Amino acid sequence: MKVAIIGGGISGLSAAFYLKKLSQDHRDDIDITIFEKDAAFGGKIQTVRRDGFVIERGPDSFLKRKPAAMNLVEDLGLSKELIENKTGQSYILKGGDLHLIPPGSVMGVPTSIHAIMETGLLSEEGKARALNDLIIPKLEPFEDISVGAFFAKRFGEELVDHLISPLLSGIYAGDIYKLSLATTLPQFVHAESEQGSLMLGLQGKAPRKRTSQFATLQSGLATLVEELVNALRELGVTLRSEIRVEKIFKLDNGYELGFSNGESAVFDQIIFAIPHHLVEALLPEADFLRRPDAAPNTSVATIAMAFDEKDVKLDREGTGFVSSRLEPKALTACTWTHMKWDHAAPEGKALLRTYVGKAGNDQVIYESDETLVNQTLQEMSDVVSISADPDFAIVSRWPEAMPQYPVGHQAWLNNIKQKLAKEYPHLHLIGASYDGVGLPDCIRQGKQLAQDLLGEAGFHA
Ligand SMILES: Cc1cc2nc3c(=O)[nH]c(=O)nc-3n(C[C@H](O)[C@H](O)[C@H](O)COP(=O)(O)OP(=O)(O)OC[C@H]3O[C@@H](n4cnc5c(N)ncnc54)[C@H](O)[C@@H]3O)c2cc1C
Repeated sequence: MKVAIIGGGISGLSAAFYLKKLSQDHRDDIDITIFEKDAAFGGKIQTVRRDGFVIERGPDSFLKRKPAAMNLVEDLGLSKELIENKTGQSYILKGGDLHLIPPGSVMGVPTSIHAIMETGLLSEEGKARALNDLIIPKLEPFEDISVGAFFAKRFGEELVDHLISPLLSGIYAGDIYKLSLATTLPQFVHAESEQGSLMLGLQGKAPRKRTSQFATLQSGLATLVEELVNALRELGVTLRSEIRVEKIFKLDNGYELGFSNGESAVFDQIIFAIPHHLVEALLPEADFLRRPDAAPNTSVATIAMAFDEKDVKLDREGTGFVSSRLEPKALTACTWTHMKWDHAAPEGKALLRTYVGKAGNDQVIYESDETLVNQTLQEMSDVVSISADPDFAIVSRWPEAMPQYPVGHQAWLNNIKQKLAKEYPHLHLIGASYDGVGLPDCIRQGKQLAQDLLGEAGFHA
């Protein structure tokens, strides 16, 4: 079986790793080549190690409770490198003030009357409206609606703007009134249908206070990529970088790929591990892949700034904040990284990482580095006092990086997978555009596809 993997991010690398690792006695029967357009593998995983700092340009950690990433770390023999986040209070920035995320809330949804009454994030009317969750009947059965519409119906728009939207924006950075509820937060649908009230349905479901939920690697997430690449070389996978797949032709028995250097090659199986809009561009005749209702991916930028610890005074104890949806700022979040991760900054130093870019205001990422640094420092000045310029700053732009899962996403995905299987057999889609945006979701998709392909080929040991 000759397999081409297009894209050398975590999804493509994981698919290759598990295809080889799980094929056991049939390992030599599987010939895999990964094609990556950039010089380095890893896609959005990029770590800068500088002056004792470990700075992540893209993802900085993964959720522990989704097992695929933890399992991959173990499969690569990297468990001794694992570290967990330090827990601390996080806040929501509204009206220039930091407000506590109500204790006991689940993704911003309060689970007690007390939490609603005590929060400074809602007006008196907003609190009264939120309490209606206890009395309004549950929604009629539905296939899918937007996250915003669902929570606005139960708690009112204020709570959506100031609690739910900011907490979700770090993951989806999109328009909450377009985001699919069934795909992104199905557990809330179940909670509502069990109890009628979401507040009641979610009681006891909040993560235990002060338990770490995330993990990363001591020397940065790039180590995961470096070790994957080493393991793939040992397993006999061909890794090609600085080569872009530009064309794909369907043959009677397989596919021919055309590359940016003029070469071409034929494969039995093609795995697309690239964002969906790039798949659409490579298969212009496959109309069914297009999705007119989907908003374009949102662009974001991260701005990491290194300081002497003594020059940075935070208004409160904690690990950072996210901005309310209505806050008139480019800044969407700030992590006090040195308070969250022991490995990120050397002794006596502080590392702040801010985010800009949201649905409706993502062109801001194309401002100059200097503008972005100054603007985010200015926008934080009410809550973080900084008495010196940063030692250095690293701006990372991520154009069209955050996939948007619109209402009806799951039905669309099922439909295109069926059509692909019929019209383009042996052509597969994995990655953040499809079945979860987090690193564990991407790794899981790569591993699942490997298992499916090995099963079909009768290669299970
Ligand atoms: C700023 C930011 C912060 C994030 N934070 C977190 C976090 O903390 N935790 C978490 O779990 N997730 C986080 N995510 C999400 C996560 O990083 C991504 O969903 C995941 O890395 C996507 O991996 P992928 O392999 O599917 O795609 P990518 O990483 O995008 O890899 C695709 C690869 O394909 C290559 N490519 C594209 N076109 C071609 C072509 N034609 N030919 C050859 N190669 C091609 C690209 O160069 C790229 O290397 C974050 C994302 C961003 C942008």
